[in-house]
Amino acid sequence: MTMELSKYADYKVEQLVELGHSRPKIEKHAQTFKSKLLSTSGYNALITSMDSCTGGFIERGNRSNYHLSEALSEAAIINGDFEEIVKIAGHESVHLDSAQEFDFKGAGFDKSDYGVLMEAFDLQPKIGEESPLEALSRYLIEGLTESKNQERHGKNHNCAYTDDEVPATENLVRSLQRECGIDLKAQFRANQPLKMAQSLKFFANYLRIKQDIANFSLPASAVYKTAS
Ligand SMILES: [Zn+2]
Repeated sequence: MTMELSKYADYKVEQLVELGHSRPKIEKHAQTFKSKLLSTSGYNALITSMDSCTGGFIERGNRSNYHLSEALSEAAIINGDFEEIVKIAGHESVHLDSAQEFDFKGAGFDKSDYGVLMEAFDLQPKIGEESPLEALSRYLIEGLTESKNQERHGKNHNCAYTDDEVPATENLVRSLQRECGIDLKAQFRANQPLKMAQSLKFFANYLRIKQDIANFSLPASAVYKTAS
């Protein structure tokens, strides 16, 4: 099932009351559920049944709707605990207003560039059906997305990205800023998939040179240029 937020809240109140829950309590929680989500995100929340290890998702390319887990929504309305669902809504909202991928193809970022970054940073994309570059794109996007979400909502310890994608991506972001003056987070927030991939291509080349030449660093003028 998938239902628009307001309809879902009304439907859930009736269903839970029928199951024996107290109406005043459930009505109050359902109201809080709605207002918390509306104040977290300006986008449309759709409540959708999904497998138990998923809290929410967006359809790639979509810029207006995000999906939230029906099971977690129901639990929040019953318990009156909205912390987790708000964090998930925050994460999905970041997806809706930031870059959703790296344009590696457009930037000519290839497998050898991928190898250089993997060697320098503890990146562990899980490669399934997609290509390694798609897996890397998804890995870094999730890291950047949850990192931005944490700035507003704090860490979500139930989120799988908190211990892997986020620290690995933040480490790469810091190095790229420090060594080349490139702000990957700003490019992410400005939704610039090509620029983001070009930055990583530049960084891979930089790391190659650094391997070959001891004590190599970019002159300040070059750092300034790449930052613009
Ligand atoms: Zn995500």
